[in-house]
Amino acid sequence: MADCIFCKIINKELPSYKVYEDGSFYAFLDIFPVNHGHVLVIPKTHYPDILHTPPEVAEGLMRLVQKIAPAVLKATKSEGFNLGMNTGSVAGQAVFHTHAHIMPRFPDDGLRLWGHKPYEPGQMETVSAAIASEIV
Ligand code: 5GP
Ligand code: ZN
Repeated sequence: MADCIFCKIINKELPSYKVYEDGSFYAFLDIFPVNHGHVLVIPKTHYPDILHTPPEVAEGLMRLVQKIAPAVLKATKSEGFNLGMNTGSVAGQAVFHTHAHIMPRFPDDGLRLWGHKPYEPGQMETVSAAIASEIV
């Protein structure tokens, strides 16, 4: 896609620090890492987000996460990582080309990715039923 920064990276129109490439996928360092070794894994075909990505491509992406994440952990001497896929601008998605973030974590790295919003009594029943009823 012409105006997509990640398509330009795949096509070598923009530079990147590649860690992996095959016929269908590309992985490279995030330029604004939450920790050093933060890697983005993307399909070479442009899809705007995970919900608009064919299931077989999403499967391939997850298979690659399973291949690359252990390498990130070894190389950064990290014992764990957060896997992220921001979907929609309200969720912080800035680049609308499907990507998975592999973010290595370190003890006391100061990151706190998630807050907490406790349920009122009875709310969990309502919310779970609402979600369950929308699954097609
Ligand atoms: P999003 O917020 O869409 O989930 O994540 C997009 C990610 O792409 C961000 O973490 C951002 O740092 C990264 N990013 C944006 N532009 C570039 C770029 O030109 N090169 C690289 N390597 N990463 C980028
Ligand atoms: Zn793209």
